Amino acid sequence: MKIAVVGAGINGLTCAVKIKEKYRDFEVVIISNEFTPNTTGDGSGGLWYPYLTGDTPYNLLDAGQTFTTFISSPPKLLAYLQERFEKANGKLLRAKITSLEDPLLQEYDVVINCTGVQARFIVPDDKVTPYRGQIVKVKAPWVNHVIIDEDGGNYIIPNASTVVLGGTHQHEFNTQIDPKDTDFILNGCQSILPGLKNAEIVNIWVGLRPGRNAIRLEPEERNGKLYIHNYGHGGGGLTLFWGCGKAVLQILETHLNKRKCNVKSKL
Ligand SMILES: Cc1cc2nc3c(=O)[nH]c(=O)nc-3n(C[C@H](O)[C@H](O)[C@H](O)COP(=O)(O)OP(=O)(O)OC[C@H]3O[C@@H](n4cnc5c(N)ncnc54)[C@H](O)[C@@H]3O)c2cc1C
Repeated sequence: MKIAVVGAGINGLTCAVKIKEKYRDFEVVIISNEFTPNTTGDGSGGLWYPYLTGDTPYNLLDAGQTFTTFISSPPKLLAYLQERFEKANGKLLRAKITSLEDPLLQEYDVVINCTGVQARFIVPDDKVTPYRGQIVKVKAPWVNHVIIDEDGGNYIIPNASTVVLGGTHQHEFNTQIDPKDTDFILNGCQSILPGLKNAEIVNIWVGLRPGRNAIRLEPEERNGKLYIHNYGHGGGGLTLFWGCGKAVLQILETHLNKRKCNVKSKL
């Protein structure tokens, strides 16, 4: 069985790890035009908190609450998953596909589609829209708490070695740094925590959250081939990836069992 996972972001890597570790004999390849540290998740806050995930059901947390949650350092997490996949003998291929019918995908029995915001063009699916997110990473090791100002739009998320200051969520494909956004982020976050005025800026970055009315996590049969879609995680991909990867594995298992039954009934 030959499986292609398109996309090496947090969702593609997770699906690839789960499939390859469960089915050691399968040939599993991640096909992607970008790998870590150049995926959307690499610049994200890594906060375990579902945000901008459309109508996807989840228990809402009310504003004004204090709660304990989990923060990952995304580039470390992505590098860890990629290494884990390669250790299981998974293969990486740097290439850009133009659609799900791309000749590059022809030889695969199953294609897992984890293309994030690009699913808009690849599937194509016009429900997918970008939520442009600009952030500023600063050195501020004294910051130990996440602060989200839902009304003002600013947030402060400490990672292992930097603090992520945000943010924006415009419906735009523009990945250029906008100085106006930088001012908004710095002024807003510094008014919440004045000590940030002294923080050294390490990086300014823009990423496109894959927005959709709801995450698309389902199989689709096209021209005799199974596609499993896993995209549209909005601002919650670093929160939902493991569960979504598990669901993809379950869909694949159901498909393989069905195939086994069909073969037996023909004998
Ligand atoms: C500023 C910002 C802050 C965020 N903070 C958080 C947070 O704190 N917590 C949280 O849970 N989430 C957060 N997110 C959201 C999170 O980053 C995304 O939901 C997640 O990264 C989406 O992952 P993905 O794997 O679906 O897509 P992506 O990471 O975008 O990966 C898509 C992959 O597909 C590949 N690809 C695309 N098109 C093609 C093609 N034509 N051919 C081949 N390969 C292709 C790309 O190269 C890439 O490898 C944030 C996002 C932003 C922008």
